[in-house]
This record gives sequence, structure tokens and C-alpha cells, in this order.
Amino acid sequence: MNYDFSDYQKRLKNIVKSKGLKYSSQREDILKALYNSEEHLTPEEIYSKAKIYNKNIGLATVYRALSFLESEGLVNSISFGTDAKKYELNRGHHHDHMICLGCGKIIEFYEEELEKLQENIAKKQGFKLITHEMNLYGLCADCEKSED
Ligand SMILES: [Zn+2]
Ligand SMILES: [Zn+2]
Repeated sequence: MNYDFSDYQKRLKNIVKSKGLKYSSQREDILKALYNSEEHLTPEEIYSKAKIYNKNIGLATVYRALSFLESEGLVNSISFGTDAKKYELNRGHHHDHMICLGCGKIIEFYEEELEKLQENIAKKQGFKLITHEMNLYGLCADCEKSED
């Protein structure tokens, strides 16, 4: 499942229309910055990338747009540190994250057994699992090496 940027554009246009909001190209520029990056980005990093497409964009707009895009499921956030967040485009394939507390690196992983286990745990409680986030916090191999 790999989507073109035009698919995201269409989804964004439909969401904005269905909510009766005004279309803003800035939201699209932010989406494009995330689309063109393989990494998890802080709002500041997204801001500097979105500036390439629109030099008038402001950081406050980026923050607002990110929370809008996240609430509409186009974007996911990963918490790290106290209240810092990194964002990624929701590319439609689920994965979980390991977050390094030393350097902030984020490693993605997907473990079929773990996914099944979570579904079974939920099922035992009669709980219908819709989605989950799993974040493992620790030190990446590089940071652990430089500790000793
Ligand atoms: Zn690290
Ligand atoms: Zn990710």
C-alpha cells in the first residue's frame, strides 16, 4: 500500500470540505513535508521543511495544522521526553516505536506475535481493540556504547 501524494491531497480536501472549513494550502504544505520525509519529525523540523514550499508559513500554523491532521488520522504522533512530540505521515501500515532517551532516535518495529498477543488480551476482556500505540523507551545501541 503505497499512496501518491495526490491521494493525501484528496483525503485532506474531502475532510476540509465535509467540515465546512476553508481550504488552506498551508495544511497541504505540511502534509507534503511529512510525505517527502522517511523520518519522524519534530514540529520545528516540519516547519523548516514546509518553508521550502511556502516561505510565509509560521510555526504556530504548523502546530495547529499538525493537531488537526492528527485528529483526522492523516498524521501520527510519537511522544518522547516530557511533552515533546514527533510526527509521521499515516502511511496505512501499522508499526510501533522504540524511542532513544539519549539522542531522540526513533526505531520502527512490527512484531506479528506481539500484535496477536495484544488482540488476545483485549478479547479476554471482551474489549474490541481498534488501535494501539506501543512506545518502548530506552537507549539505542550507539548511546548505550557511549555510556560506558
Ligand atoms: Zn541514541
Ligand atoms: Zn513510525
